[in-house]
Amino acid sequence: MNELLKNIVWNMSEVIPEERAGMLGQRGCVLWLTGLSGSGKSTIARALEKSLIQEKRLAYVLDGDNMRHGLNKDLGFTEKDRNENIRRIIEVSNLFADCGVICISAFISPFRAIREQAKQIIGPDRFFEIYLSTSLKICEQRDPKGLYKRARRGDIQSFTGIDSPYESPDHPDLRMDTETLSVDECVEPILSMLSAYQKK
Ligand code: ADP
Repeated sequence: MNELLKNIVWNMSEVIPEERAGMLGQRGCVLWLTGLSGSGKSTIARALEKSLIQEKRLAYVLDGDNMRHGLNKDLGFTEKDRNENIRRIIEVSNLFADCGVICISAFISPFRAIREQAKQIIGPDRFFEIYLSTSLKICEQRDPKGLYKRARRGDIQSFTGIDSPYESPDHPDLRMDTETLSVDECVEPILSMLSAYQKK
């Protein structure tokens, strides 16, 4: 056991998850959007959030850039900091799911091992991996934040897809290419998957 935890005892809630689910009319879960920068994670996450809120479902987006403005603003881009960034995101996603929220977590999360860690911490039954498989060629053409251009110039180091790898998921719950599908066409199967989960 971690030395720091030896005097800490887990405090149990008197509320069971079903009570919260009954109150909200939904079960919490994490929709984990992974893919290259520019693959459409933020765009789809926002469209999905809007659609769910219109259906009176409590949904909330955790977005990579936004998290770095707040909770993770003390972190940089060294390997250690990147790991800590994602570790905190996984823990926050887990807390949101515990609260009964449909948490939409949009992060490049390029490594299989870290996504597997997210699945294990959050729980395989309420973790959905959604892979935006848009090619590097298209992401780089879009370059919505101008980051690929900067990475190609050498202004950004270890940029995923350029000089740092992206490990694509072997068995994602959903896989979508935003080159060929519209935003609505991407949102639709996610809503169907979610609806099946809510009925379980
Ligand atoms: P990411 O969050 O993965 O870095 P963004 O959502 O910020 O990606 O950027 C994706 C870009 O691609 C946006 O400019 C968006 O308008 C565009 N785009 C074009 N078609 C789609 C689609 N079907 N789904 C998502 N984004 C799309």
